[in-house]
Amino acid sequence: MNEIALLENMEELDLEKVINEFETVTKDARRVQRETLQKILEENGEAEYLQKLGLNGRTDVESFKACVPLVTHKDLDPYIQRIADGDTSQILTRKPITTISLSSGTTEGKSKFIPFNEELVKSTMQIFQTSFAFRDREFPIGKGKALQLIYGGKQFKTKGGLAACTATTNIYSRPHYKNTMKAIRSECCSPNEVIFGPDFHQSVYCHLLCGLIFRDEIQFVSSAFAFSIVHAFRTFEQVWEELCSDIRDGVLNKRVTVPSIRTAMSKLLKPNPTLADLVYKKCSGLSNWYGLIPEIFPQAKYIYGIMTGSMEPYLKKLRHYAGELPLLSADYGASEGWIGANVNPTLPPESVTFAVLPDIGYYEFLPIRDKVQNHGVDSYTESEPVGLTELKLGDEYEVIVTNFAGLYRYRVGDRVKVMGFHNSTPELQFVCRMNLLLNINIDKNTEKDLQLAVEEAGKLLMVEEKLEIVDFTSHVDLTEEPGHYVIFWELSREAGEKLLNECCNCLDQSFVDAGYLSSRKVNTIGALELRIVRRGTFQKILDHYLGMGSAASQFKTPRCVGLSNSVVLQILRSNVVKSYFSTAFG
Ligand code: AMP
Repeated sequence: MNEIALLENMEELDLEKVINEFETVTKDARRVQRETLQKILEENGEAEYLQKLGLNGRTDVESFKACVPLVTHKDLDPYIQRIADGDTSQILTRKPITTISLSSGTTEGKSKFIPFNEELVKSTMQIFQTSFAFRDREFPIGKGKALQLIYGGKQFKTKGGLAACTATTNIYSRPHYKNTMKAIRSECCSPNEVIFGPDFHQSVYCHLLCGLIFRDEIQFVSSAFAFSIVHAFRTFEQVWEELCSDIRDGVLNKRVTVPSIRTAMSKLLKPNPTLADLVYKKCSGLSNWYGLIPEIFPQAKYIYGIMTGSMEPYLKKLRHYAGELPLLSADYGASEGWIGANVNPTLPPESVTFAVLPDIGYYEFLPIRDKVQNHGVDSYTESEPVGLTELKLGDEYEVIVTNFAGLYRYRVGDRVKVMGFHNSTPELQFVCRMNLLLNINIDKNTEKDLQLAVEEAGKLLMVEEKLEIVDFTSHVDLTEEPGHYVIFWELSREAGEKLLNECCNCLDQSFVDAGYLSSRKVNTIGALELRIVRRGTFQKILDHYLGMGSAASQFKTPRCVGLSNSVVLQILRSNVVKSYFSTAFG
């Protein structure tokens, strides 16, 4: 890991130096990968896990692959649990793990414990600095602040007394985060009390208020995942008059009740009728909130956050708020560690790629062969994982990570596609999560397939102004023979019967998977059902996850809700206002 990764009190980052470092490590990615693995194994060779596997201090790629199996979280869970329960022996790493990250838990409806340490902080800062260096070359920002819609989640202690919270919370709470943000001119305009406030809704309100107070200084608007930006500006639509009146009188709205937030905000909020009038006038002049962000933040140069994968459905709304401002999609990583940086910031979010940083982890990739060639059978398990510099252009792979925090040959569960190379490191496009979402018999539909079907059907809604899909998810209903797909939609306002029937048919026809089509034709899969849920249903789902300890910053709407995720399923079911069955297949 390069030595510039940790900034102490540096005033400003030398961007050329960062770019040069990145060019150097990517030019000889193969060597750097071997060295990185060697470092990880030298550091942790004595850990019980590696000892048991008989690595015997060897640090070369070949021995590593021969001794250490590919694992999922489930395999490592007993080890991680021991750490969380307070066993301080060298279990996965030489230095004891003292902090745990909670993954967002979208997939199973339950968060996973993941070891966290300073090395992950360093690689996060390195990724942030790298992508900023490339971004600032194309979209330079001035001195100022950023409206960062970020939220620390709940922090608690595990049974063994280890600090546990989401990875983003772990990052935001480190001094390195603030230092790095300062060095890349991206300081958050809101005080820590707002970022780490115990009530998400109050934090959203105050972030927006801080943004308006520092209106003339805001250089860009960002969040970890784009969902939080869309969520905040949807909230803005509801509360803008209250925000204006707070600014006019210099008095914080009563809805904010957390004393620490009130105290922190009172230091920033002073009566400013001129600003209040200006914001009021700007908002009143907008048509359906188009171009809201540049209108209220005149110095903003772009909008920044992860916009790929499960965030793509929010792009339409984000573009609406952004008007002419560019949308720059952020980097690719997980609680388990970072993977790649967006070093081509001019690409639109739909075609963004991530250049893997070969010095922050050791990466392997399991080839995913073409479904059709293999008659729909997952064959990737038969193939051998390949190294970072052995990837083929255009091929798809499952990502395997070995990191500095005790994960060895860990299947992250993501599917990526190789779109090109930056020097000798691959540029990956995020395709989707690996797990199938919708599957009844021979059909196979992923998160991406669902997204495309919803996008297609959503086009039909455009005939009516202001009608849009606020959010969506799905479920496989097997209570009756044959089973069928259920799609839940929350709409921005009511839609006519005829239109929704058409949408339902369109959804059914838009799953192009051969297994689905043939099953639908012979009715071994029943007619697709579109269920419309009340306004605010997806907010309830978010609130449920926040209540379980998830942080809003890492929230991803679950795109398929299984029976095991019973609370969310119950929220959905109890909010259905109308349902439609497809007649597309007769
Ligand atoms: P978490 O479980 O909260 O750590 O979330 C990590 C997961 O978020 C990854 O495994 C990906 O599935 C997804 N993710 C992270 N970064 C991106 C990105 N840039 N594009 C698409 N999906 C991403």
